Amino acid sequence: MSINFKKFSGTGMTSDSSRIKLIENLKNNGIADSRVLSIMRQVPRHIFVDEAISSKAYDNTALPIGKAQTISHPLIVAKMTEIILKNNPKRILEIGTGSGYQAVVLSLLVDKVYTIERIELLHAKSKEIFRKIGVTNIYPKFSDGNNGWKQKAPFDSIIVTAGAKSLPLNLVDQLSENNGVLLSPIEDNGKQYLKSITKINNTLSEKVHGIVKFVPLLDGTTS
Ligand code: SAH
Repeated sequence: MSINFKKFSGTGMTSDSSRIKLIENLKNNGIADSRVLSIMRQVPRHIFVDEAISSKAYDNTALPIGKAQTISHPLIVAKMTEIILKNNPKRILEIGTGSGYQAVVLSLLVDKVYTIERIELLHAKSKEIFRKIGVTNIYPKFSDGNNGWKQKAPFDSIIVTAGAKSLPLNLVDQLSENNGVLLSPIEDNGKQYLKSITKINNTLSEKVHGIVKFVPLLDGTTS
């Protein structure tokens, strides 16, 4: 889907020129997919954080979004989006809606984005932002993402934006048999590795994309 973000373009540190600088920074850090660069150039990241810190929205840094959670670094959003697009997904499940930024970036590149958040307040805030922007192909759910979303499975891709302690097998079950990809930070020896798991006819193959630092994937739900 496409959205006209003009009415959200800010001033000063939240202006267009800040987004252009961010895109230069992403390119310098190895992001090459022009679809990802073009979408991140458009999406006003500053509306996903509190006004008090919106001047930092285009720095390449994670920022607090309340309830001890963070909106991920733009570079990691770009990198994960680039990886996810490789198998041409149409329907994606995201675990960890958080601010909703990653979901919006994805929604402009694929048909449908299902997204699950375990903190009710963040779920509600992100839903309000989706409404404000006018995006209609994101389906947000307040739930424990460890269970995935069986009724909507299988998914072409599942993106986990919180650190899992081990390979989330429930989610692997909900991947398409036909080149479905799970992308998740997975802990090993106290470090988080960003891994993609590809499923082809029940055979899994794994690729490691580097070390990352996400807030933990937790169990259950909370207000
Ligand atoms: N994708 C987000 C960044 C998320 S930070 C963005 O673009 O802003 C990680 C999020 O994962 C947090 O909001 C946290 O509450 C959520 N989370 C952690 N464990 C979860 C679980 N089991 N199910 C759903 N969400 C979870």
